[in-house]
Formats: sequence, C-alpha cells, structure tokens
Amino acid sequence: MSIQPIRLLGDPVLRTKCRSVKVAGSPTVQQTIEDLRDTLSDFRSRKGFGRGIAAPQIGVSERIIFVDFEYSGPLINPKILARSKGMFELWDDCFSFPDLLVRVRRHTGIEVVFLDAEGKRQRLQARGALSELLQHEIDHIDGILALDRAISPRHIILRSELGRFEGLHRKER
Ligand SMILES: [Zn+2]
Repeated sequence: MSIQPIRLLGDPVLRTKCRSVKVAGSPTVQQTIEDLRDTLSDFRSRKGFGRGIAAPQIGVSERIIFVDFEYSGPLINPKILARSKGMFELWDDCFSFPDLLVRVRRHTGIEVVFLDAEGKRQRLQARGALSELLQHEIDHIDGILALDRAISPRHIILRSELGRFEGLHRKER
C-alpha cells in the first residue's frame, strides 16, 4: 500500500500541464498507478465519495488518471477523440477541494483513446456519469480544475449548503 497525500487547491502542481508517458510499462509508471489506486480507495473509504483520481493530485506531473466506476483501471496518455453535441449539468466535486461543489456543464458522451497498464492501446465510449468523470480527470492532466468550468462564479458553493441553495432556487422559480 502506498497512500499518498492529496495535493490541495493552491498547490502549483495542480496547475501544471502534465508530460506524456513515454514507456507505459516502466517501474515508475507502475508505481504511480499503484499509488493512484491505493490513494483513491483510501479517500473513498474515509470520505464516502470518489470515483477517479489524476496523477497531479498525488504530485506526479504525468498524463495518468485512474478511475474506478463502470471502467476500472488506469488510463495512460488519455485523449478525447470525439465529444457529443449534447451537454448536461451537474454538481461536480474534487478531492483537491473536497468541501466545495461546482455546477458544471459536460458533454453527455465522449470517445477516449489511451494506453492501459500493459501499454496496449484502448478505445472507450463513455456516456453520462463515466463521461463527465473522464472529462474531469482529463482536465486535471492539463492543469484545469472543475472551478474553471463553473457555469458562473455563483455556481461555486460549500458542499454543506447544497440543500439550502437548491431550496432557494425552487422558491425563485
Ligand atoms: Zn478532481
């Protein structure tokens, strides 16, 4: 087990565009994959949420993400090949600012190519929750955070206040 500390909002590593992985099977890449898997499962068991993590969140500036939701495993050098025209809105959250929720708009479906842990090229069609998860994690390796995608600055709220905020919305309608 190698659980790593989660880098938090304000740490410059979260704003750095990550390098491409040259050799997917190298020992350092395999170690990063293990660290991502262990850190994700530790976070989820402590906080009760978490379906994906990106390498910069454990301080590694390489293009590696790890998801455990519908698809389970690392995606190395992931690239979005196609995006649906259709979009949907959701409250997004992130390990790197766990007390905040951000209202964002994401593509309903995307097609992603990547290398798996063995360095084999894979293609994945993702829809709905997996699609938005992958868009969130792939943003991370470009130094982009969900906060940058907020529909407006008013759509960044504390997790604890969601119930009240939504209630307010209903009254206004
Ligand atoms: Zn995140």
